[in-house]
Amino acid sequence: LPGIYVHIPFCRQACHYCDFHFSVSHGFRNRLIPALASELSSRKSELGNSEIQTLYFGGGTPTLLSDSEWNILLNAINSNYSLADSLEFTVEANPDDLSSQNLRLLNSLGVNRLSVGVQSFRDEDLSYMNRAHNARQAITCIPLAQDMGFSNISIDLIYGTPGLSDHLWEKNLSTAFSMNIQHVSSYALTVENNTPLQHLIRKGLAAGPDDETQSAQFMILQTASVNAGFEPYEISNYALPGYRSAHNSSYWEGKAYLGIGPSAHSFDGKNTRSWNIANNARYVQGIESGSRLSESEILSPSEQISEYILIRLRTIEGLNLTTFDNIFGSPATEQLNQKQKFMPTEWFIPGNKEIRLSNTGKLFADHIASELFPDSI
Ligand code: SF4
Repeated sequence: LPGIYVHIPFCRQACHYCDFHFSVSHGFRNRLIPALASELSSRKSELGNSEIQTLYFGGGTPTLLSDSEWNILLNAINSNYSLADSLEFTVEANPDDLSSQNLRLLNSLGVNRLSVGVQSFRDEDLSYMNRAHNARQAITCIPLAQDMGFSNISIDLIYGTPGLSDHLWEKNLSTAFSMNIQHVSSYALTVENNTPLQHLIRKGLAAGPDDETQSAQFMILQTASVNAGFEPYEISNYALPGYRSAHNSSYWEGKAYLGIGPSAHSFDGKNTRSWNIANNARYVQGIESGSRLSESEILSPSEQISEYILIRLRTIEGLNLTTFDNIFGSPATEQLNQKQKFMPTEWFIPGNKEIRLSNTGKLFADHIASELFPDSI
C-alpha cells in the first residue's frame, strides 16, 4: 500500500549542517499551504484507488504549522484519499515546538507517531549545529509528549560532532534509551556541499568531524542499541520489535509514494521517479498557474539493480539472492555473486542465501554497494 509524504519547507533557523530544502523566510507561507492542498487533490489519480498506509509530514519543520494550516492540508487529504484504519501518521517535530498545546493539537489531528529532531542532549553540540532548541528542551519534550498520549516516538541523534567524545556519545545514547522511546534514527555528522557548516570549516571557524571517531561512535551505537533491545533494522534506523517505521520501510521495499511540496520526491512503485522544484516561490507560481514544476527520470534496468543493491544492503535482512534472481534474472545474480567473491569476507555475515553486511561492512556500505553494481552502468 502506498504512502504520502508532505514537505513543509519552513524552519525557524538554519541548522548549519542541513542541506534539505527549507526557507527561514516565511514570505510565501500563506500561498504555499493552499498550493500543497491543491497538489494533493490534483495528483490523487497517481495512486489509483489504493488505501494510504502511511502519511508522513517532514521538512523543514511541520510543527510550525498552525491549526488552520493543518486543517487546510488534512481536509485536502481526507477528501481525496482513503486512509487505512492502520494508518501510520508521522510528523517530524522539533523540541522547541513541542508545547503541550501543540502536542494536544497533533494528537487531535490523528498523528500517531512523532519523529523528534533531538540530535543531542548537550548544549555544546546543539549550538555547534545551530539548532533552535537547547538540551533542556530536548530532555523535557519527550516525557511531555508521552503524557499527552504519544506512545510511538522516534528521536534523531547525530554523532561524530567535534567535542562529542565516545563517552559523551554513550551518555547521549543512554539518556535516549532511558526515555521509553520506540525508535531511533541516527546519523554521522556530514559536511554537505554549500552548507554553512562547510563554509565555517573552510574558513577555519569551526572544527570538522573525523572519520575514525565517527566509525568508533557508529560501533558504540550498534552495541548500545542492541543492549537496549532495539533492532538495527537499517544502517541509520533502530526500533523496538514492532516499531519499525512503515513509511521508511516502504521506501526500502520500492513501494509507490507521492511526494507533495517543494523538493519532494515521488516514486511510481515501478521505475519512474519524479521530484518537484526546490524553490518555494516557483513551486507556488507553478501550482497556481496549473503547471507543477517537476522533473522525472525513468530508471534503466541496470539503475534499478544498483538501487536495489544499495537499499537492500542497508537493511538487517540484507539482499536475498532468490528474490533478487526472481526480479532481475540469473545473469544479474551470477554477476553479483562473482563480484562478491572477490571482496573481503569480514564485510559480510556468512551465508549463501543472502548478502548481509557485518558491522564493519556497514561502515563502507556505499562503497560495497557500488562495487557490486552491474557492469553496464
Ligand atoms: S530544522 Fe531540520 S530541516 Fe530545518 S534547518 Fe534544521 S535540520 Fe534542516
